[in-house]
Amino acid sequence: MAFVSENLVAELTALVGAPQVVTAGESLESLSKDFYWYSPVLKRQLEEKRADLAVRPGSVDELRAVLAACARARVPVIPRGGGTGNYGQCIPLYGGVVVDLSRLDKFEITSDGVVRAEPGARIGSIEPAARAAGWEMRCIPSTWVKSSIAGFFCGGSGGIGSITWGGIASADNVKSVTLLSCEETPRLVRLEERAALTALHTYGTTGFMVELEMRLAPKRDYDQLIFCSADWERLLAWTDAAARNDAWPKRLASQFEAPIAATFKPLQKHLREGEHATFLLVEKSVTAAVVASAEAAGLNVCYRVPLSDPLKPPYITDYTWNHTTLWVLKTHPTYTYLQAGFGDNFREQFALLQTRFPGEILLHLMWNAGNPKTMRAEDDGRLLTGEAVAIGGIPVVAFRTEERLREIIDYCAEIGVFIANPHVYTLEDGGRHPNIAAKRALKDDTDPHALLNPGKMRTYPRNPFAGEAPPEPASA
Ligand SMILES: Cc1cc2nc3c(=O)[nH]c(=O)nc-3n(C[C@H](O)[C@H](O)[C@H](O)COP(=O)(O)OP(=O)(O)OC[C@H]3O[C@@H](n4cnc5c(N)ncnc54)[C@H](O)[C@@H]3O)c2cc1C
Repeated sequence: MAFVSENLVAELTALVGAPQVVTAGESLESLSKDFYWYSPVLKRQLEEKRADLAVRPGSVDELRAVLAACARARVPVIPRGGGTGNYGQCIPLYGGVVVDLSRLDKFEITSDGVVRAEPGARIGSIEPAARAAGWEMRCIPSTWVKSSIAGFFCGGSGGIGSITWGGIASADNVKSVTLLSCEETPRLVRLEERAALTALHTYGTTGFMVELEMRLAPKRDYDQLIFCSADWERLLAWTDAAARNDAWPKRLASQFEAPIAATFKPLQKHLREGEHATFLLVEKSVTAAVVASAEAAGLNVCYRVPLSDPLKPPYITDYTWNHTTLWVLKTHPTYTYLQAGFGDNFREQFALLQTRFPGEILLHLMWNAGNPKTMRAEDDGRLLTGEAVAIGGIPVVAFRTEERLREIIDYCAEIGVFIANPHVYTLEDGGRHPNIAAKRALKDDTDPHALLNPGKMRTYPRNPFAGEAPPEPASA
């Protein structure tokens, strides 16, 4: 154990109880890992990394005591929710203590439409409870069944629902976060409204989130629809118009090239071989109009199944967002992916990519409210409200070499396609952090000994586990 002494193990065991401490074996390995293997680059870099031990506190008081003990011992401390992140966010770079928050899972839905939750509350528990009370979460990741609400805030960005509500950072989706500092006497730090976004997507480097309040949307009843066409442009024109049509309330609009749709094995009996596919979740009241419009545009209506209430599979969302990549990897294990934001000239950008990398990139598009390109530093990473729907995507890429992947990413930048690079584990290199100085200042306050997930905030000047210099940025 590089940094963790026998004394610390004994102390933590006394605090949380022996059954809640994992010091070896498969359990420690899986508590040290996430879906980093989606990226061949991260797989190479992170495969050998693991924690020295993992603990599962059962209350905020126990968590407080765990953090105090770790702060006194000056060991790396890494928060963990559902472990579904895909950039190695909760993989310890220097060993240390993984703190699994799954036992802190209480939440309530308030009558004015807010979920107030402990960090480990699963979105898969919150969403059905919200719906039973007449609400739904504004956006949820496609991993909603397993992922924790704090992990979504600290490691995710948006998802199902983002076509209406934008991402986590958009509008007033977040009401507050409460963090526990990692020091000898841990303190609660509460950040409200815009200030809460300072902690957004910081991979557990800026304090342990112990409570999160997110605003909900009034519940809608949805139909799940799939349309197919052999004509990509025809499908794109219709999907783009449907996605931007405010008269059709929606929770999802995604389009897939035919070879991607072919990997959705359980859906093959509905899909049409060789045809591209569009997946929509629309409010039931507009289903007839949406279907009639699609038929008039010459699209094939392949699937029309209500989303059951209470929630019960099948969910077409299981094939969307980054679940798409999972399906592709099942059929083509050597593929990988990118996370892209396209411009208003998206048709031209698609054509350029397909000309330059024929057969190497397959398009998976999704439409979201808010245009990241217009984000301003003074908005603290928040997307502006009332913005038009923009096209993002998680294209899949036939992986050849890391150099080739870099070449593709560089070319995307050249033609104005924004890439949130999923092949890096440092938060600055993986996305947009216009407010990174505020994030460093928050870390100064909540992590005075620089123990929290060390190495993940690359521009933070102190890392006691790697000498004076911050680690090299991980790069594709
Ligand atoms: C198949 C697949 C599909 C996905 N789809 C989406 C998607 O649609 N949208 C999306 O945004 N993401 C998506 N992701 C990424 C990920 O699933 C989500 O971001 C998810 O919400 C993360 O939650 P988690 O509980 O699993 O977090 P974890 O992986 O456990 O943690 C994520 C990060 O948050 C930190 N963290 C966790 N809890 C705390 C806490 N209490 N305090 C401080 N830091 C904490 C961890 O240290 C880590 O850095 C997908 C991933 C996969 C593998």
